[in-house]
Amino acid sequence: MDGEITVKITFPHMGNLWIALNTIFEELGAEVVVPPPITKKTITLGVRHSPEFACFPLKVNVGNFIEALETGADTIIMAGGTGPCRFGYYAEVQREILQDLGYDFEIVTLEPPQGSLLGLAANIKRLANYKSWNEIYRAFKIAWQQINALDIMHAASLKVRPYEEQKGATSKAYEKAVSLMVEARNTDSIAESLSQGLQIIESVSRVNSSRKPLKIGIVGEIYMVVEPYANMEIEKTLGEMGVEVHRSIYLGHWIKEHLLPKLFGPGDVEEIKKAAFKYLNHFVGGHGLESVGRTILYAQDNYDGVIHILPFTCTPEIVAQSILPEVSRDYQIPLLSFSMDEHSGQAGIITRLEAFMDLLEQKREKEKLLGAV
Ligand code: SF4
Repeated sequence: MDGEITVKITFPHMGNLWIALNTIFEELGAEVVVPPPITKKTITLGVRHSPEFACFPLKVNVGNFIEALETGADTIIMAGGTGPCRFGYYAEVQREILQDLGYDFEIVTLEPPQGSLLGLAANIKRLANYKSWNEIYRAFKIAWQQINALDIMHAASLKVRPYEEQKGATSKAYEKAVSLMVEARNTDSIAESLSQGLQIIESVSRVNSSRKPLKIGIVGEIYMVVEPYANMEIEKTLGEMGVEVHRSIYLGHWIKEHLLPKLFGPGDVEEIKKAAFKYLNHFVGGHGLESVGRTILYAQDNYDGVIHILPFTCTPEIVAQSILPEVSRDYQIPLLSFSMDEHSGQAGIITRLEAFMDLLEQKREKEKLLGAV
């Protein structure tokens, strides 16, 4: 079409989010530059150029953007937000950092639409070269189906991993399943990729499936929970230690409950708020309230323990962190909290996880003995 602007779009990494964003923009005819996968170099770049006090996810995003701009991107898509935490300032801070570094780019902030799908779509219409609403709707729909399918496959991998015969087999199977979804671009192929992906994950050879693994729930700040590089692949480490992990937040939940609640309804938000009410009865930003409520729900669901993951200096999660020891005492659920940033090392995390596992095993044994008396 005459007059079309060609932009090269990029965005931050956050788990599998890149697959859905890549789909939206490619389906709308834009050129996409997916940032290289997060590595030590990404973190080093982000940390070097971000203010020291900034949240760790902001620093990783900056690293993603530098790497993408260096490979030709010229337009950054970033989510916006409204208080009370610092997320709403991210895009502005990142714009200034990258401008000071001399990059020529545009940053487009997609503000939460407060329940209106069209509000969000209008913001990207320009980037989509003013494609029709039908085309925009189709691109969003496919991306949404991909996100849901990816979340289902991820949850399946968490159930299989504690039983895998060969360490790493589930992760390999999961990666293969995810790669099928990258190219699926219509409802039928997404359903087909989901079914094949689940088959691949389910066919991982397993041992001793009658063993009852420890069950641990993961709560915390969404970026740290969803992005494996940021949390040092904690789910994989736990799974390979023989633990069944349950993740409290997925991208799909977050989009439904926080971006488009009017479209999808409140989901389990009310249940979480109700659970947390005695300890925290107001929104503190991010997922602070969810961390408290979900921990209680995990305790009520007889989980063996909860792991709380937060970026160092994250205000909403620091509020949750100050409350969780009381919750842990009241509900008799062991809790382990990890404040993570660029200085975190995997060896230290593994040592703490092993000690936590010992504690949970001992608790289980004790409860078994008491139950037998
Ligand atoms: S939730 Fe925490 S890490 Fe995320 S922007 Fe807010 S303060 Fe920073």
